[in-house]
Amino acid sequence: RIVYVNGEYLPEDQARVSVFDRGFLFADGVYEVTSVIDGKLVDFPGHAARLDRSLAELDMPSPLTSGELLAIHRELVARNNVTEGMVYLQITRGAPEDRDFVFPDPAETPQTVVLFTQSKGLVDSPAAQTGLKVISIPDIRWGRRDIKTVQLLYPSMGKMMARRAGADDAWMVEDGFVTEGTSNNAYIVKDGRIVTRQLGNEILHGITRAAVLAFAREAQMQVEERPFTIDEAQAADEAFITSASTFVMPVVSVDGVALGDGKPGPVARRLREIYIEQSRKAAV
Ligand code: PLP
Repeated sequence: RIVYVNGEYLPEDQARVSVFDRGFLFADGVYEVTSVIDGKLVDFPGHAARLDRSLAELDMPSPLTSGELLAIHRELVARNNVTEGMVYLQITRGAPEDRDFVFPDPAETPQTVVLFTQSKGLVDSPAAQTGLKVISIPDIRWGRRDIKTVQLLYPSMGKMMARRAGADDAWMVEDGFVTEGTSNNAYIVKDGRIVTRQLGNEILHGITRAAVLAFAREAQMQVEERPFTIDEAQAADEAFITSASTFVMPVVSVDGVALGDGKPGPVARRLREIYIEQSRKAAV
């Protein structure tokens, strides 16, 4: 694979990042994952805008314009012949000479910019046919989940807890209400109404979430942005998650309780179709 590191396109085994990089030492960095369909980028403007917001919230300058970022994304997709999959982008606060909790001066310490691609079938996903099983776990992450930082240890542990419990993913619960999945936003559907937690510091503002809710409203579906409980989820007709790498993915059980008939529900299936169709058309 060819990867991008600080202005250079290199074979992955020649790419280097310093051991003093604050991404490595402090998880002091932000990231984006943009999916690729038909060799084109899905929802790129949304990801670029969220990246700028994440950087600004952490007092980091934007090292590249969104036009430059788009060009790098496209170059990597082309060089690696990605027709379907994703582009991962990470920007950290760079590698100052000494390890210090104080942020280095950005004028002296350039940020580290890394991008790489992963080819993966996304549209014809077998999981979309069967649906996912989720378990609930406490949400013990930090209070600024709206910033897309590389602090992913707890979500990664949550995914492992799910695996060990024979499930596919975990929904995190705080003060009795579901926040989101380990790497996705969470939704339930009851009597035709789609319920998903409102935006705030408690969840990542999913780019797929924004697109899917807009499509749902255009299709005259009812959307309620409010918190919901695990009990409510278990009594729902259906459920699903959204993320750049899964699009809309049905959820068929929550903590071992099957939803509806235990198969992917009609709302999730329809939204998945609409999202894929529209994303294909709008991809750049
Ligand atoms: N929530 C969390 C915690 C995530 O990590 C992600 C994606 O990685 C999402 C939600 C979904 O965001 P998006 O649709 O922008 O991929």
